[in-house]
Amino acid sequence: MQPKLPVCYFDARTGILCANCEARLRKGEVTGADVEAAKAVAQLSDRIPELGRVTLRRAFEANGSYVLEFEQSDMQALRSNPLLQSELEGALKGKVWLVGAGGNDRRFLEDVFFPAKVLTVNTVWLPDGGKKTKVIVPARRSERRIGDFDKLREAVKQARGIELLVETEREAAAKLYS
Ligand SMILES: [Zn+2]
Repeated sequence: MQPKLPVCYFDARTGILCANCEARLRKGEVTGADVEAAKAVAQLSDRIPELGRVTLRRAFEANGSYVLEFEQSDMQALRSNPLLQSELEGALKGKVWLVGAGGNDRRFLEDVFFPAKVLTVNTVWLPDGGKKTKVIVPARRSERRIGDFDKLREAVKQARGIELLVETEREAAAKLYS
C-alpha cells in the first residue's frame, strides 16, 4: 500500500522531486515541510502498515517541530499504533503532532493535545485588540503527555494562526481563587 502524499510517492521515496513537483514547490503549492513529511511517511510506510493507507494533506514546521495534517478518517488508524508518532518524530528529528484536516479550531486543538483531554477552549482578548486561544488541560502530568508547551505554541501558530495559551486545570483554579 502507498500513502497519498503532497508530492508523488516515488519522489518521496527517492528524495528527488520530479519536474512537476519541483515546479509546484517553486510556486508554493507545496512547501519544504510537505516534502520532508512526505519523505518520512513514505519511508516508514514499509514498516508501519497504518501509514500505507493514509492521506497526508500537508505539513507545517516551526523550529524543527511538525504538525502533520491527515484526512480526518485516517485519525483512528493513526492513533491505533502507539509507536507511529514516535517513529515519525525519529524520522523528522523533531516533535510531531497529528491532526485531522478540515475541522474547526476546537477539533484541531483536541487532535493536537490527544491523548490528553481538552477541558475548555476560551478566547482571551488582549488590550491591543489581538486575541489568544486559551486551552485548559487536566493537571496530571499534562506536559509530559502533550509535549513541550513552547514548541507546541509555535507549531500551532504556524499551522493554524492560533496564538495559544495552555493552562492546566490546577493553574486555572489557582487564578480563580487567588
Ligand atoms: Zn512528483
